[in-house]
Amino acid sequence: MAIATKEQLAIEGGSPVRDTRVKPWPCWPIYDDTEEKALLRVLRSGAWWSVPGGEGKEFEREFASYHDADFGVACSNGTVALEVALRALGIGCGDEVIVPAYTFVATASAVLGVGAVPVFVDIDPDTLNMDPAGIEAAVTAMTAAIIPVHIAGRPADMDSILSIARRLKLAVIEDAAQAHAAAWRGTRVGALGDIGTFSFQASKNLNAGEGGIVLTNRMEIADAAWSVVNIGRVRNGAWYDHQVYGSNFRLTEFQSALLRTQLSRLPEQTQRRTTAALALRDCLSGIDGVRLPAADARITCHAYHLFTFRYEASAFGGRPVSEFLSALAAEGVPCSDGYIPLYREGLFVRHAARQDKGCHAGRQIDYPNQYLPVCEQVCADCVWLEQSLLLSDPREMSDIATAVSRIQRAWS
Ligand SMILES: *Cc1c(COP(=O)(O)O)cnc(C)c1O
Repeated sequence: MAIATKEQLAIEGGSPVRDTRVKPWPCWPIYDDTEEKALLRVLRSGAWWSVPGGEGKEFEREFASYHDADFGVACSNGTVALEVALRALGIGCGDEVIVPAYTFVATASAVLGVGAVPVFVDIDPDTLNMDPAGIEAAVTAMTAAIIPVHIAGRPADMDSILSIARRLKLAVIEDAAQAHAAAWRGTRVGALGDIGTFSFQASKNLNAGEGGIVLTNRMEIADAAWSVVNIGRVRNGAWYDHQVYGSNFRLTEFQSALLRTQLSRLPEQTQRRTTAALALRDCLSGIDGVRLPAADARITCHAYHLFTFRYEASAFGGRPVSEFLSALAAEGVPCSDGYIPLYREGLFVRHAARQDKGCHAGRQIDYPNQYLPVCEQVCADCVWLEQSLLLSDPREMSDIATAVSRIQRAWS
């Protein structure tokens, strides 16, 4: 009869490092009667959509100010926020926009949405962010903008990106959907470039189920964004005066009220995530085959929407990351693998083949035959742990490290 040893992996029938029925991870979202009161306040006011002086205006002001930006224009979600940003900058048919290949589809689909052409560049293996070294090679006479994504909540290298953009006269749109509270050299992200976008979708570090905002320091860009969100009206203009193309991308008062209360929790939650992430880095750093992102002193706040590390199969008996993820989940650590290279998503394959019904102006890019080596590698070996795990007591991070090292010892 086989005797179960302490080291038997949970996936093989051993007991897990963490029994999540007894010791659950923190729930997300976090709320109490503050949120209830805020929602009831809107309900009972009867003003359920954005009016001057209402929740929406206050939220725009509070979020912009927290993020070191002069202006905020709220909108329905983070995907729309990207489209609003592109339109506010006048980017459209045939223009090329440089985006990293490792991001959520919206970063690039929003570019298609305005009729422009997404041009994918590779990422840096130690940061998972757009590699500035690849940008210049991707620039053509048609390039209008760069969209750095602060992936996982880690600010992209804004020094390099802004200096390239300034030299080549390109606009910079930060996709900060994962980067609430993140800061680069002491300034919060979002208005470091020309305009920045955020998402308040349910999984994000600041959430109202759905929602989005654009931030900028330039009034003319904020006004242009406002027009796009408000079906082409002019800010402070007449109700039936529609000057540009826009749609109805407004955020509701219920969402704004909820976001204001959630925003008041963000600084403390960010602090907790940071402390836990540093503790987790510490206890993972000694484990063979775990490659942690590089530290960077210019990042003065990492939002840790995700805690990521790269899995080196060679230290785990050559087993693929998919097996590792199953084994880790069985030990009581929820985890996932994340994106595929965006140029291989059906959307871009079909677009390249001109099978979709989008705008076909501009350069035709052979997306399915692109191959960006770092992105390919990261998609094949990256492990994601979501932000809510980091809201636990930092001492509980040792459960994660114990699980990883137990698997490593069993397989090596
Ligand atoms: C979530 C996300 C978006 C889109 O936001 P939604 O609110 O879900 O539309 C865009 N970019 C990135 C990087 C994201 O993570």
